[in-house]
Amino acid sequence: MAKRRIVDLHLHSSASDGTDSPKELVAVAERAGVTTMALMDHDVLDGVEDARTAAIAAGITLISGTELSVQHGDAKMHMLVYFLEPTAGPLQDKLGWLRQGRNERNLAIIENLNRAGYTITIDDVRAKAAGRSIGRPHIADALVERGYFDHRDAAFVDLLGDGGTVYVERERFKAEEAIELARTSGAVPVIAHPYTIRAGHQEYTRIFKDLTNAGLGGIEAHHSAHAPELRIRLTEIAHALGLAATGGSDYHGAGKRDYGVGVGKGDLRVPPSAVDELEAQRGQ
Ligand code: AMP
Ligand code: FE
Ligand code: FE
Ligand code: ZN
Repeated sequence: MAKRRIVDLHLHSSASDGTDSPKELVAVAERAGVTTMALMDHDVLDGVEDARTAAIAAGITLISGTELSVQHGDAKMHMLVYFLEPTAGPLQDKLGWLRQGRNERNLAIIENLNRAGYTITIDDVRAKAAGRSIGRPHIADALVERGYFDHRDAAFVDLLGDGGTVYVERERFKAEEAIELARTSGAVPVIAHPYTIRAGHQEYTRIFKDLTNAGLGGIEAHHSAHAPELRIRLTEIAHALGLAATGGSDYHGAGKRDYGVGVGKGDLRVPPSAVDELEAQRGQ
């Protein structure tokens, strides 16, 4: 019998808020038996070159990409952009602007934290980041280092999470703008973990349809935060719209507890056909 293909299309390295370097991430994927992996660091492509070198040596197919934060009307969501290469290009050239927005927002969050009595500086935060895409997880890590919390997650609960007491919004693309930029850059835009949109059924349907008309290429159906029935439902919705149904662990190394490469919270099985569906979207 042929060896089972293990696919993980949503991984983070220390180029953004994961804790494994791109090279270490590939080693973890190799141990997990992964045959195709996608590096999806937030707003940055800096990990791709090292990950690719390691992936070639390990015989793993590496898909490059990034994860953006976007907005459609009032709905906020993450968008995975597959096959985005670390070269010049319409979307690639805008990533620096997004990271600048992160830096400004990080300073505003730190001001809020200082006002709330937390002693923390931007240098503490920078010391926690290995790369150029710095965000709330690194602020959380700096708060852990200062002894305020025992893990990154705990700092998100009341403080750093969306709507938390020190939360600050940041510049985002409109979803349609991100889709257009992704497509003109030769990449495939996919709505990440739709559970985070927190919308009702009708609202979801409208968002998926709007964005399909705008050039969306897929929906991330297989994610450990989705109940098994939701994974099936989202796969059906994606296919009915002619989109790829993708999936991945959203692994962040030690930064996100209980999420393993290739298996998510243990029950994740991304169908290898997800890769073929994504590939088919490339030419469209
Ligand atoms: P940022 O990119 O700065 O907006 O931070 C968002 C990142 O923080 C996400 O990609 C996750 O890695 C992490 N994150 C978001 N919500 C939580 C949470 N409730 N607990 C732990 N990490 C979180
Ligand atoms: Fe993240
Ligand atoms: Fe995400
Ligand atoms: Zn992610």
